[in-house]
Amino acid sequence: MKKYKNKLMIIFVALLSVFFLSTPVFAHYLSTGYSVYSVSYDVEAGSYSVFDDPASWWEEDVGTNFYRSSYSSNDVYLKSLAYSWFGLYSPTVGSDGNTDFFDIYVNSESIREDPEHYDYVAAYKSSATHEFGHALFLDDLESGWGDNSIMSYERDRNTVTHPQPHDISDVKSYQ
Ligand SMILES: [Zn+2]
Repeated sequence: MKKYKNKLMIIFVALLSVFFLSTPVFAHYLSTGYSVYSVSYDVEAGSYSVFDDPASWWEEDVGTNFYRSSYSSNDVYLKSLAYSWFGLYSPTVGSDGNTDFFDIYVNSESIREDPEHYDYVAAYKSSATHEFGHALFLDDLESGWGDNSIMSYERDRNTVTHPQPHDISDVKSYQ
């Protein structure tokens, strides 16, 4: 009986430590991501480089196989849209809870209209890197993160275009 109790105690402590250790990492986790291993995309509108550069940065930094393919179901667009948001990640989730495919929009209109964006091409790429971050299961960081994450709403989109160290370690922890 004592042995059994000890075993239960060990299991309890193990579960507790898993909970506490995983909380900081998974606080930024977005359950509707696509894959941390392989992400294809088809550029439906806009110049390839707006998406190809962010894709290659992610591939270099976290090792995810990122590639453009006209056969991909994941459609990405650089488009002038009458919305205030700069970018949108729109996943289609199957009945199993997994994301079957996604659409990404980078809104050239709202990005160019914001006077803070003196380098709007950089801001397009910053947005594309951010939206690809959602496909890699990264959630938005709405405040308190400044320039320290590509997922930060407060980042300077003229200069913060690449995944940041915090983003890289989060994605690697999901692999
Ligand atoms: Zn976002």
